[in-house]
Amino acid sequence: MREFNTLKLNSRAENFCCITNEAELERVCDFVQKKSLRLNIIGTGSNVILPETLSGLTIKIDIRGIRYGPTEGMVSIGAGENWHGLVLDTINHNFSGLENLSLIPGTVGAAPIQNIGAYGVELSDFFLSLRAIDVSTGDWINFAKSDCKFGYRDSIFRNSSRYVISSVTLKLHSEFNPILNYPGVKEALEFNNIQSPNAQDLSNIISKIRESKLPNPKRLPNVGSFFKNPIISRDKYRELKRDFDNLPCWEQPDGMVKISAANILDSLGCKGYSEGALEVSKSHSLVIVNHGKAVEQDVRNLVGKLKALVYERCGIQLIVEPIFIKSH
Ligand SMILES: Cc1cc2nc3c(=O)[nH]c(=O)nc-3n(C[C@H](O)[C@H](O)[C@H](O)COP(=O)(O)OP(=O)(O)OC[C@H]3O[C@@H](n4cnc5c(N)ncnc54)[C@H](O)[C@@H]3O)c2cc1C
Repeated sequence: MREFNTLKLNSRAENFCCITNEAELERVCDFVQKKSLRLNIIGTGSNVILPETLSGLTIKIDIRGIRYGPTEGMVSIGAGENWHGLVLDTINHNFSGLENLSLIPGTVGAAPIQNIGAYGVELSDFFLSLRAIDVSTGDWINFAKSDCKFGYRDSIFRNSSRYVISSVTLKLHSEFNPILNYPGVKEALEFNNIQSPNAQDLSNIISKIRESKLPNPKRLPNVGSFFKNPIISRDKYRELKRDFDNLPCWEQPDGMVKISAANILDSLGCKGYSEGALEVSKSHSLVIVNHGKAVEQDVRNLVGKLKALVYERCGIQLIVEPIFIKSH
């Protein structure tokens, strides 16, 4: 499964198949129920940590199709479509909203799992509904936005393989309303001499910023940010500021503040820290890169050490962002 996860961990699936339509998905659910097999679901493997052996049946979702309508701005997308491909397609159809989510790797079907987000925008801002099959019953279910309980990199689908998503429906804007308040976006537009950007300009700028910051998984295997940004009380933030004077924070609606996990790891000197073939990227302390033949246990070891260090020095429990797929 090395080719099916962007951290390029060594992993072997006992059984594997690609799913290209809903009828195949129904047959797979029936099969795993009858044989009492575990079902593992992957898209492009850009947010998973795979065990050395994936027991049961592992399916890669490859259901395609992008359909606009029936009302203005509505678009329904097959779960296997590439996310960035969708962003570009919506811009070509003169719809906007997804520009800040440009270049996030992965499939459309995986986007609701952790409510993907970047540069001040989240999937949930445009989400209408999704269609999924309940693996245990074989029933098809439509989930409305309120059913999904979206949060910061969270939804009811995280850490559950009960539902396989076959399509997602979004509602986009017909009028371009750029979101430029995330640090660095306005500056990058100015630097590139773009005074009044259109949706394509903004998508290009976001892609450029991302390319300059994050190691490309094709060259240096990784799964993007390894830890969520901690959300803490104002008092805790004031306490931390004594030791980390440059620590930025973002106000949350409930009075808490979100702080930068990258900034903390940076201040603790974690860049370049390594464990076997794995290393905390020298260019971005939230990203762990694989230089060789790492396996899941190496990830657990490195993550355990980083979490222990942060807890000891800051009293904060870091939460891992990528999803560990269980082996049994
Ligand atoms: C360089 C890099 C940058 C990244 N930047 C960001 C970012 O800015 N913001 C962000 O939010 N994420 C980011 N990510 C994480 C990742 O791109 C997203 O989480 C993405 O949605 C994962 O898509 P995938 O198809 O690769 O899913 P996978 O990694 O294959 O799967 C992720 C999870 O979704 C489940 N899943 C996948 N497809 C389905 C389906 N059809 N039905 C049910 N469950 C399913 C899997 O079982 C697994 O639990 C980044 C990753 C990388 C490598």
